Amino acid sequence: MLIQSFRMTALGALMLGVSAVASAGVVAGTYDGSADGKLSRVTTSVTLDAEGRLSDVKLDVSGETPALGGAAASRMAPEMVRTQSVAVDGVSGATVTSEAIRTAVKTAIAKAGADISRYEVKVAKAVGADEVISADVVVVGAGASGTAAALAAAEGGAKVVVLEKTPSVGGAGRIASGLFAVESKLQKEKFKNQPELLKELTYR
Ligand SMILES: Cc1cc2nc3c(=O)[nH]c(=O)nc-3n(C[C@H](O)[C@H](O)[C@H](O)COP(=O)(O)OP(=O)(O)OC[C@H]3O[C@@H](n4cnc5c(N)ncnc54)[C@H](O)[C@@H]3O)c2cc1C
Repeated sequence: MLIQSFRMTALGALMLGVSAVASAGVVAGTYDGSADGKLSRVTTSVTLDAEGRLSDVKLDVSGETPALGGAAASRMAPEMVRTQSVAVDGVSGATVTSEAIRTAVKTAIAKAGADISRYEVKVAKAVGADEVISADVVVVGAGASGTAAALAAAEGGAKVVVLEKTPSVGGAGRIASGLFAVESKLQKEKFKNQPELLKELTYR
C-alpha cells in the first residue's frame, strides 16, 4: 500500500503574524481562572506584565486523565506564552480539556482588564514537507487492537506503518485499571482454583 501526500505537521506552531499583545487598561499581575474539564475543574494561574504580555501560564489539570488532559496542558501552556494567544491547538482525544484550558486562561486574562479579543488571534501553523511512505500494511489507530495487529503483521514479515492521531499510543488501554484477557491462558491460570468465576469470564 502506498500512502501519498502524507503530510507531516510540525509539532510546534510557528508564529507568522504579529503577536497579539494588549496593553491599554491591563493591570500587571497574576490572575486565576477555571473551567469545567472532562472529569474535573481545570484551574489556571496567568501572569501578565505591564504591557499585557502573557509571561507565564500555569495549569492544574490533575483531575483530568494524565495521558490526555495532562498532555494538553503541557503543550498548550508554553504555546500560549510563545504565541501570546489562547487560540493554540488543543490535543486530539482531549478536546474537552483543551477547551476548558482556553476558557480558564481567557477568564484569568479578562480579570487583568485586558481586551480578550487581542489574545484570540489564530496562530498560523508551520506545515512540514509532503512525504511518501510505502508499506504492506497500514494500521490506523495505535490502541490495543491496532498495536496487536501491527505487531502480528510485522512478525509475519510485513512492512507496517501505524498512524495514531493522539500524542501517545495505547488508546483507551492507558486508562484501563487491568485487562481481562478473556479466555486467555493467563486468565485460565490466574483463576484455575475458581472454576465458577472462570465460567463467567467469557466472551459470551
Ligand atoms: C475509562 C475506560 C476504562 C476501561 N477500563 C478497562 C479495564 O479496567 N479493563 C478492561 O479490560 N478494559 C477496560 N476498558 C476497555 C479497554 O480499554 C478497551 O476495550 C480497549 O483499550 C480498546 O482498544 P482498541 O484498540 O480497540 O480501541 P482504542 O483503545 O479506542 O484505540 C483506538 C486508537 O485509534 C486512534 N484513532 C482513532 N481514530 C483515528 C484516526 N482517524 N487516525 C489515527 N488514529 C486514530 C485513537 O486515538 C486510539 O489510540 C476501559 C475503557 C475505558 C474508556
